[in-house]
Amino acid sequence: MGFDSLLLDCHLATMAGDGAYGEIRDGALGVRDGRIAWLGPASELTQDALENSAQVLRLNGVWVTPGLIDCHTHLVYADSRAGEFEMRLNGASYAEIARAGGGILNTVKAVREASPDELYVQSLKRARQMMLFGVTTLEIKSGYGLDLDNELKMLRVARRLGESLALKVCPTFLGAHALPPEYRDRPDDYISLVCSEMIPRIAELGLADTVDAFCEHIAFSREQTRRVFEAARAKGLKVKLHAEQLSDQKGAILAIEFGALSCDHLEYIGRDGIEALAGAKTVAVLLPGAFYFLGETQKPPVRALRDAGVPIAISTDCNPGSSPCTSPLLIMNMACVLFGLTPAEALAGFTSNAAKALGLQDELGTLEVGKKADMAIWDITAPAELSYGMGHNPCQMALKHGVVRG
Ligand SMILES: [Zn+2]
Repeated sequence: MGFDSLLLDCHLATMAGDGAYGEIRDGALGVRDGRIAWLGPASELTQDALENSAQVLRLNGVWVTPGLIDCHTHLVYADSRAGEFEMRLNGASYAEIARAGGGILNTVKAVREASPDELYVQSLKRARQMMLFGVTTLEIKSGYGLDLDNELKMLRVARRLGESLALKVCPTFLGAHALPPEYRDRPDDYISLVCSEMIPRIAELGLADTVDAFCEHIAFSREQTRRVFEAARAKGLKVKLHAEQLSDQKGAILAIEFGALSCDHLEYIGRDGIEALAGAKTVAVLLPGAFYFLGETQKPPVRALRDAGVPIAISTDCNPGSSPCTSPLLIMNMACVLFGLTPAEALAGFTSNAAKALGLQDELGTLEVGKKADMAIWDITAPAELSYGMGHNPCQMALKHGVVRG
């Protein structure tokens, strides 16, 4: 029996099994009903499969990887913050930038003022850029609306992106991202709104399956984060956390207590946090784009995380304030150069471990029989070239559920 699609003349980086990349050189891969039905050395392919497959893609010796998974983005937003960036580099002080309306609240204002269509059109461009780099699954957070209607607007735009593109979108509610101006000096009241109105409504509408928060001295305390997680748990939603980005708030330990899918950033995580991660299934998500863009110096403890056996994912963190980046490959290069990941770890960070960070490891993230046939095809001679290049894009095409994406 043939396949719906058969990939030939290619090498596979399965990101499963033995070896750093799970390589199968001179491989072949068959797709049936949108899932991987067979893969292995091309020499083991049956004559029947060769002769009776509906579509045969001869790939001229390129590499096939799982479709890339970007597991932490704030891709839905309005307006850029390039003006603020330019002011800073022209020597403006932080206070001057704040007076000119800079910072996260600038984006909150722009998102609140944007119509759903405007927000969609602006975000669509970024999603399409990601797709050119072989991204087939994308997590998108809310968190620039900071009131019920505008948070719902952001999540609906995220859902619309997933419906209109050959892209799986995983929406995350991040109401506890920043304190909106109307709740100034009343953070507990805002958290009450998040917990008693926003989370129940979002759960009821099915607009997000995961809840995130920013636990930091400039954002929300551990106790406030706990309240958010309790409200999420009460509605059967999963949790994840922006943790230990600027200081060690012990947020990761709290998140693990709630069975978090991931703890993200982690530059300042302490030994106790690493030990908690080691005993959990929670993924450490590292975000070198924000580290680079903000000129930070405290690096996440990659060696300790690696030694503790913690799965490490990486992500663009695409957002207007600290990581205006839509290139996963540039982030892979940064993860290697700035944080010391190996190229294989960087690719796992956008495939197998990114799938775990979204709870999708049974369906996506590796090339294995039974998984969804989401793949990226690269004009490279070795998988390490994906991390080695700076600002390049060797992605030839991507397949979603076995279908070549236009
Ligand atoms: Zn983030």
